Amino acid sequence: MEQKNILRLYNTETRKKEDIVPIDDKCIKMYTCGPTIYDFAHIGNFRTYVFEDLLRRTLKYLDYCVLQVMNITDIDDKTIKGAIKKNISLYEYTEPFRQDFFEDLTTLNIDKAEYYPKATQYIDTMIEIILNLLEKGIAYKGVDGSIYYSIDKFESYGRLSHLDLKSLKKGASHRVDLDEYEKENASDFVLWKIYDENRDGNIFWNSPFGKGRPGWHIECSAMAIKLLGNTIDIHCGGVDNIFPHHENEIAQSEAFTQERFVCHWAHSEHLIVDGKKMSKSLGNFYTLRDLLKMGYTGREVRYMLLNSHYKTQLNFTFEGLKASKNAIQRILDFVERLKSISAENGNNHVDSIIETTREKYIAALCDDLNISQALASLFDFIRDINHLIDDKKIGKNEAESVLNFLKEIDATLGIIFLEEKEKIPEVIIDAFEKRKEARKNKNFSLADELRDFISDQGYLIEDSTEGARLKKK
Ligand code: AMP
Ligand code: ZN
Repeated sequence: MEQKNILRLYNTETRKKEDIVPIDDKCIKMYTCGPTIYDFAHIGNFRTYVFEDLLRRTLKYLDYCVLQVMNITDIDDKTIKGAIKKNISLYEYTEPFRQDFFEDLTTLNIDKAEYYPKATQYIDTMIEIILNLLEKGIAYKGVDGSIYYSIDKFESYGRLSHLDLKSLKKGASHRVDLDEYEKENASDFVLWKIYDENRDGNIFWNSPFGKGRPGWHIECSAMAIKLLGNTIDIHCGGVDNIFPHHENEIAQSEAFTQERFVCHWAHSEHLIVDGKKMSKSLGNFYTLRDLLKMGYTGREVRYMLLNSHYKTQLNFTFEGLKASKNAIQRILDFVERLKSISAENGNNHVDSIIETTREKYIAALCDDLNISQALASLFDFIRDINHLIDDKKIGKNEAESVLNFLKEIDATLGIIFLEEKEKIPEVIIDAFEKRKEARKNKNFSLADELRDFISDQGYLIEDSTEGARLKKK
């Protein structure tokens, strides 16, 4: 099918805006680096996931077919450390955080990806890639017994992050076995970390190169290739993923398949606090739950994360959050006003106003997801239609057309029509949370009692692999 509107998106590798055209003429294969489930995700993480959601929703709105993978990192330095500290299995440690993550996705109205693979399910593929890299002489065994990737062996190493290769080669004589490190320490990185009883407890996998566990970077290469194929259309993440994570993903994947790994790299800028990246390590973070407890809604947080361009840093402030609340209120008041119109006669210019707004809205999104401009056209539209309502020039049919148009563009925003989700009464949410806790503590009789209470109030609990979910009966 011919693509009517083409999305132009900035490509980190070429440093240019480029058209998004599916490589195989079918679906856009999109890989998005997902959360490391060692704790709750913070709203900085969600800035990246909301950007990826806008990208996905826009592609779909523009009639592209999308196949998205978001991995779940359940093995890395942090998850292992957490499980050992609590003296529980890696699964017991990470699973509740995985479920919490899906709950947060729902609260933020983030569209579900097609696949959410967990790294622990793809160890065989990781081993297969590492064996191949060893055979090709690109990987080698270090003196410590771990397997490393030799960055000297990959000609274009550094091409994504535009690093100066000469200064990189200096560093290449070093080796790192940490999952995360800075550009200054660019060096051979670990593919398979050999088992260390003190560090790893009883968490390990067997492999032809000894007991151990995969490095973080190989996890994404394995899941991307296995689920989407050798070449993918768009690979996303936050800017901190560019180096070393995505640089290493390219090196591993292309040395393995001998094909281009990614056509288009898209990275969102950070959510910052007082000039610094919001992060767990700096302690300057809020989780979504922190903000919900303060009385903000998922919709307000979503709008705050969504409404500025993904390539500019977003400074988190409570004023910003309040401004988002007001902006949403303006849209919701408008919706209510439209719904209350009962007059028969209207103004036949409404269709052309809708058409012009649609064109502007689409043009803005097609230009590297310029959401601020897209929202500006929406607010201009609201102002113009409000004037017509003031002048009694909007009848029931026109109001209906305007509402339908709002529904149409809300496919990209995910902000306007979600009343139902936010109207679940506090007591039900409270009982739902207590039931989860009871199940965690294996207190099944209390869990059943709470389920019955919730059911009596007209709500259902749906249990699935993505965790439990509340739904109106
Ligand atoms: P992590 O769990 O640290 O691997 O991060 C998951 C995702 O969140 C990655 O794509 C990161 O780039 C992104 N991320 C982490 N911190 C921030 C932040 N402050 N602002 C935006 N994105 C972030
Ligand atoms: Zn990744």
